[in-house]
Amino acid sequence: MTEKKDLILIAGPCSAESQEQLIETAEGLAEGGLITYFRAGIWKPRSQPGFFEGVGEVGLEWMAEIRKAFGFSIITEVGNAAHAEKALKLGFDALWIGARTSVNPFYVQEIADALKGTDIPVFVKNPINPDLKLWLGSVERVEKVTKGEVFPIHRGFSLSGNSRFRNVPNWQIPIELHTLRPDLRLICDPSHIAGKRDYIFEVAQKAMDLNYSGLMIETHPNPHAAKSDAKQQITPERFWEGINNLFIRKNLPPDPQTLSQLKKHRESIDVFDQQLLELLAKRMEVSEEIGNLKNKTGISVLQPERWKSILETAHINGEAMGLSYAFIDQLFKAVHDESIDRQTKKVNY
Ligand code: PEP
Ligand code: MN
Repeated sequence: MTEKKDLILIAGPCSAESQEQLIETAEGLAEGGLITYFRAGIWKPRSQPGFFEGVGEVGLEWMAEIRKAFGFSIITEVGNAAHAEKALKLGFDALWIGARTSVNPFYVQEIADALKGTDIPVFVKNPINPDLKLWLGSVERVEKVTKGEVFPIHRGFSLSGNSRFRNVPNWQIPIELHTLRPDLRLICDPSHIAGKRDYIFEVAQKAMDLNYSGLMIETHPNPHAAKSDAKQQITPERFWEGINNLFIRKNLPPDPQTLSQLKKHRESIDVFDQQLLELLAKRMEVSEEIGNLKNKTGISVLQPERWKSILETAHINGEAMGLSYAFIDQLFKAVHDESIDRQTKKVNY
């Protein structure tokens, strides 16, 4: 378990906008304690054209000035080999690869090749789509050619559907990554997951509860006026307040009494999980019977009205039982997918 003092803290604005803005942010951050890296985007990959695309190369020099004046280590985003070379030349202490780049093996390889033989730490954001192998593949491309530590950053996934957050966290994916590669120190970017400043520390706390090693949080002296990601940036004061309020659980071995209570609960969970599987298997058998009927009578497999009413009922009943909207949504969509699959096989046998 990482203690609070050992957390890797990356803070600074989404984008470098002016030298004054960087200095003001750095002053605010310097007041609260020590951050591991001061961040700012210089080249901004925007989903759509017409938005602020960063100040470009001059921002690298502003960042180098911050390094000199405040003693902060500095980090920025690189999206291609030329960016990486320029940042290396100006003495950046670390680099990150963004979500719109880690999705593309050509670009990641190009950046990795530009960093060949260096020992610069590299942070790799998860790709925008929920593909664990692609994320790990990007991490590995960098690991293969550099000697520095490579850190995955979890920033959530672009998925349609109903979520309070800008990017759906899909916590199972980083959990699986941690299971496959427990040696990698995982960082959470609650700013890009949340999308709204009020949710940032709720997400950060969850990351702490899941043993993440650090946080990247966008901070701006005047968040409302930020040229990018204005809704999710927070002032340095709010950053330190949130960090100070984080609760880090101790990873102590449980005492015998707790252990026996845990054991009892886990046994109940195992029983319920078995019942869930049996129920799902029975449900799918019924789906196949329906598939047989549809096959005989030529009715189409997807009946949108019926599906709509199943989902609506599940949401109403689920909510009454305290189950979250997002959970019911995911669960029933997965069940429906499997059911359609079974029926399709019956219809096309
Ligand atoms: C950012 O950190 O400002 C950024 C563009 O992040 P992401 O690649 O996660 O969208
Ligand atoms: Mn941003």
